[in-house]
Amino acid sequence: MRVDVWGVRGSIPAPGPTTNRYGGNTPCVSVIDTKGHLCVIDMGTGIVPLGTALLQKSLPVRDDFGAGKGNATVLLSHGHWDHIQGFPFFAPVFIPGTKLSIFGNARTADRVEALLEGQMNPQFSPIYTLKNLGATIRFEGVREHQCFRVSDLEVSSMELPHGETSVLSFQIKEQGKTLIYASDAGYSASGAPDDVVEFYRDADVLIHDSTYTPEEQELRRNRGLSSYLDAAAVAARAGVGKLVLFHYDQDHSDDIVDENVRLCGQELERLGAGRTEVVGAFEGMQIDI
Ligand SMILES: [Zn+2]
Repeated sequence: MRVDVWGVRGSIPAPGPTTNRYGGNTPCVSVIDTKGHLCVIDMGTGIVPLGTALLQKSLPVRDDFGAGKGNATVLLSHGHWDHIQGFPFFAPVFIPGTKLSIFGNARTADRVEALLEGQMNPQFSPIYTLKNLGATIRFEGVREHQCFRVSDLEVSSMELPHGETSVLSFQIKEQGKTLIYASDAGYSASGAPDDVVEFYRDADVLIHDSTYTPEEQELRRNRGLSSYLDAAAVAARAGVGKLVLFHYDQDHSDDIVDENVRLCGQELERLGAGRTEVVGAFEGMQIDI
């Protein structure tokens, strides 16, 4: 599978000269399987440049999105604003003939639809309603421990704590390779639960929340996000191949992220997990798994 990163920032977009290298868009990652099907994880503002790339045909997807033949699946970890705010600006949704299947973190399909319908409310958007979009959209509610197939991808879900609420982590497998997406993970001070570690076990790539420094985490544990030390700890326990830090605090400059990646690598060494590579996710990053 081919993984592309379009947005790496948590909470709000953070454009500007100090965030140019990693990027200022909020979370969006795409996965293209060996059949060329597009699967999108989260719809932060990073989905906007993804839409542009699809219309420019600069990605190896099977379907022609510009000609109204686009067909994509979306996995939505949760409905917080930074994970949905790019959706009304994703160009293919305005093209009649586009088909989207949105699998959201909710008990029912109706609740996923209501979440995105609310975003179209005229108080927030000139679109008024999802019905004004050109795309045909199908909704599915997903809870934890669900397994389903997306084209050639085998997808499983796991619930992670996130402050007073929860998010879904997604495990995506194809041809014996495994990607885990775990954004907005807020474990307790004692670390990730054992079943979460097992869910991540031996993944080739773990894209993991790394919002805070340990000093910030001391003061903000109740917000339900990870520090780079939390990410290192769970990656070491799970024995993952590559840890990709993600969902950076909006106030962290590129230089701070550089330092966090370096210190995360040091922590992995200290934990005896030196074979786990660590990198910082950036807009434009491509990983072939
Ligand atoms: Zn977030």
